[in-house]
Amino acid sequence: MRRVVVIGGGVAGIQAALDVANHGIPVTIIEREPSIGGHMAQLDKTFPTNDCSMCILSPKMVDVERHPLVTIRTLAEVRDIEGDVGAFRVTVLQHPRYVDSSLCNGCGDCVDICPVEVYNRFDAGIGVRKAIYKSHPQVVPNVVVRDAEHCIECGLCYDVCGREAVLREDSEKTEVIEAASIIIATGYQLFDAEKKVMFGYNRYPDVITSLEFERMINASGPTGGEVRRLSDGKIPQSVVFVQCVGSRDIQMKRTYCSSVCCMYALKNAMLILEHYPDCEVSILYNDIRAYGKGYEEYLNRAEAGGVHLVRGFPGEVIEGKGDLILPLENTETGEFVNLHADLVVLSVGFEPVPDTQVIAERLGIPMDQNGFLNTSDLKLDPVGTIRPGIYCAGTVTAPRDIPDSVMTAGAAAMRATRDVLLAGE
Ligand code: SF4
Ligand code: SF4
Repeated sequence: MRRVVVIGGGVAGIQAALDVANHGIPVTIIEREPSIGGHMAQLDKTFPTNDCSMCILSPKMVDVERHPLVTIRTLAEVRDIEGDVGAFRVTVLQHPRYVDSSLCNGCGDCVDICPVEVYNRFDAGIGVRKAIYKSHPQVVPNVVVRDAEHCIECGLCYDVCGREAVLREDSEKTEVIEAASIIIATGYQLFDAEKKVMFGYNRYPDVITSLEFERMINASGPTGGEVRRLSDGKIPQSVVFVQCVGSRDIQMKRTYCSSVCCMYALKNAMLILEHYPDCEVSILYNDIRAYGKGYEEYLNRAEAGGVHLVRGFPGEVIEGKGDLILPLENTETGEFVNLHADLVVLSVGFEPVPDTQVIAERLGIPMDQNGFLNTSDLKLDPVGTIRPGIYCAGTVTAPRDIPDSVMTAGAAAMRATRDVLLAGE
């Protein structure tokens, strides 16, 4: 039976792969990171139910790994795609893991003994990892990766591993996969907050991004769920969220709404109050966009719980005496205020990942002016592209939340399944 290739192993890619495989069709997931899971694995809770993100995602990650018809290629990227619907040839480059995946059982003994600590991208600047590592405890596949760039070749991990799984040498490998259909689920990256110089991100330690906040408030994150100022380790008495950072911003050439930031800020504001009921929490917004099922109620719940919504956008963030000052006009009352905060959280928007552009150019799929993929018809075909047999799932076409991403994944899977059945054996 011909197979489907899913490019990207975030929640949309995982859902698409499961839906296709559950129809008896083989699937290969190509994921550039060492583990599947994508951004959802970094989140603490998910709106509008405040369910634990990993409690939803982790079983799906395990299901897709254990599915007899699913093959997962991590640390892998697509180098070329040739052919047409029913007979694509996808060239995949496999980067070296420096660990034999068939021997490693993920015990972590090598991680414990490794003396090198480096920045952990998964923890968004808040935590560190070792030179041999799992980016988080629930990685799939449950295998470590040795980071040859930072490894000092001390040899401790080779000696401690009773299974002789750590490899001194490893190399790139190329594989060609034949597929009847392809689902692109390469996801998004976050706007670089440093570009908004006036907010002082990376200049003031107590100005952080929403993802850094997510990692901080996550009980299984680097701080064990404690929110503390990076400057002095104190628990903040006041937290201000600044909305639309890198969204609806002509200057930054990011004119679109990232669609999820209002909701994730409301969620994070409520989570702070759950952890620290005496904290003053404000959200500075242009418009609150609470458009989905249950979202308006969620907004009302946040306000009733003590979250202050202030309509206004600060011109800058200034260093105060032990705190931060945000000068702004409250555009509802016309008042000019200097808001004081112990911690400022920038609600950064979504943008396309560079991989998407490479794939789009290779396949001749048009992108919109922001670099997201265009589907063949915005209303009538929200997952198909102008290339038969190539479908889109999740945020590759536009910023969207988890329920929408899962929905597009199901639709793309249904279309890809049909292509395989039409292509025959
Ligand atoms: Fe354990 Fe060896 Fe795998 Fe390290 S490489 S996690 S020591 S099995
Ligand atoms: Fe860490 Fe490299 Fe030493 Fe292994 S050889 S313990 S990865 S520094």
